[in-house]
Amino acid sequence: MPSLRLACAALLALCVPLAQPALGQTVKVTPLGGIAGEFCPQDRALVFEDPNGTRVLYDPGRTVAGANDPRLGKIDVILVSHMHGDHVGNAHNKEPNAGSCAQPDLSVSALPNTSAVNIALAKKSKIVTGSEMPPFFAAKLKANGGDPANSILARFGGSVTVGGVRIATVTAMHSNGVDPDYIGGELGKAMKDAGIAGDVGLATGYVLKFSNGLVAYLSGDTGITADQDLAVRGHYGAKLAVMNIGDGFTTGPAEAAYVINELVKPASVIASHANEVGTVDGKVRPGSKTEAFIKAVKVPVHVPLSGRTMEFDAAAKCTAGC
Ligand SMILES: [Zn+2]
Repeated sequence: MPSLRLACAALLALCVPLAQPALGQTVKVTPLGGIAGEFCPQDRALVFEDPNGTRVLYDPGRTVAGANDPRLGKIDVILVSHMHGDHVGNAHNKEPNAGSCAQPDLSVSALPNTSAVNIALAKKSKIVTGSEMPPFFAAKLKANGGDPANSILARFGGSVTVGGVRIATVTAMHSNGVDPDYIGGELGKAMKDAGIAGDVGLATGYVLKFSNGLVAYLSGDTGITADQDLAVRGHYGAKLAVMNIGDGFTTGPAEAAYVINELVKPASVIASHANEVGTVDGKVRPGSKTEAFIKAVKVPVHVPLSGRTMEFDAAAKCTAGC
């Protein structure tokens, strides 16, 4: 039946490309760090832009100069891995590139709101978090005239899809106390005097699936966990990893390299949260943790130079900007 076969072939040619993620499309990843072209101690913030235009800000931290930072543009979704000030943003620079790489400007307080909330209010972004963080963010949005419904839950094992990007949270072995400075009043003062933080559940990492098919793991601050093998690789099949390497507070370079080489096994990695001057004139600094991590990892490691956009295809191959 040659005519039927021809018809089938023609149909397939028409329909298959529509059913598959478009292979030529890339996810753009832009670090919003402390100093343009460098990888500096406070750098955490990354903007992921889906091929469909959805823009996701991960851990704004202290290097996004508040809601007015001109590098932000449209922000549809804000992700906060956990409540520590260097991730949620307790303070920030007064403008991009203020201060130096070694001594960043952190002169603008974001208390009691957090920088994440201030950006969400200005950009009308959704804040997607796990554990028991959503009610905290909902209350902050409401207290500042925003819409509490913009704080959305994605607890372990579940996921939400916002703007065509599927967002799931995964375990991160870390702590997640709310600093009493965000609570304020008599309660905040009493907690501060007692040396205790507010409880909003466990810290998290994220797994994102973009509309081109790319699956990305964002480690957050974490130690080595069995879930990096079982959930992040085994279930979600992450191909790109953003891995925190700073040591002391989170995996150091050797532990982070083990996570990448033996557990997550992605196709490529973006180093993050080095807590050091990682680069000088855009080149990895000899003797740095960043260098040790790159040397220990078996797949390409991309250094997040502030303002330099990297593009990744569905297989997490960097196709531009690396
Ligand atoms: Zn932390």
